[in-house]
Amino acid sequence: MSTTSGTLYIISAPSGAGKSSLVNALIDSEPHIRVSVSHTTRAMRPGEANGVHYHFVDHAQFTAMLERGEFLEHAQVFDNFYGTSQRALEKTLAEGIDLILEIDWQGAQQVRRLMPKAKSIFILPPTREALRHRLTSRGQDSGEIIERRMREAVSEMSHYVEYDYLVINDDFSHALSDLKAIFRANQLLQPSQQERHLGLLNELLA
Ligand code: 5GP
Repeated sequence: MSTTSGTLYIISAPSGAGKSSLVNALIDSEPHIRVSVSHTTRAMRPGEANGVHYHFVDHAQFTAMLERGEFLEHAQVFDNFYGTSQRALEKTLAEGIDLILEIDWQGAQQVRRLMPKAKSIFILPPTREALRHRLTSRGQDSGEIIERRMREAVSEMSHYVEYDYLVINDDFSHALSDLKAIFRANQLLQPSQQERHLGLLNELLA
């Protein structure tokens, strides 16, 4: 078991910025980083699995967890409730594993207050048109719903200034290497390196 705890990362983005694809690609290449599985009251989408993408719960279950104080943070996003389980988060960090929270700006504000060492990253689409195109190309929604999504995306993006890092998802592989650079630089911080290379340091300084 590690003696230092893992780093907590917050990643936010408007819907349509490509956040999930980037995070999935990051996790595939960096097996020591995990993504927290949130609880939500929203309906499961095709291709999603309970316990993998989210823990899908109803309003009563969500409210009961909230009343028992089980969420580190929670928020209403669009018409649904989302929350991060405190116990799962603490367990992962205590094992020395880095953890990503894919949460909105409201949750990010709550986590920053409670865990000021958390690093936060905001992912932006390259242009407004690209964002509209990505929201449209999902193909299932009316113009009115797409306009509402655009307004919600602009509202989410207006919080970019609260984040430590900004990644522009223009070219996917470029954005992925930007994301990897953020994680790598944090792993190279002196206290983490000292922990990792204590034997070497002792030998060099003997
Ligand atoms: P979706 O329903 O499309 O998966 O997610 C909608 C929004 O909810 C996204 O901005 C996502 O980051 C946010 N979200 C997902 N899980 C959580 C959570 O546990 N807490 C908060 N505050 N936001 C979340």
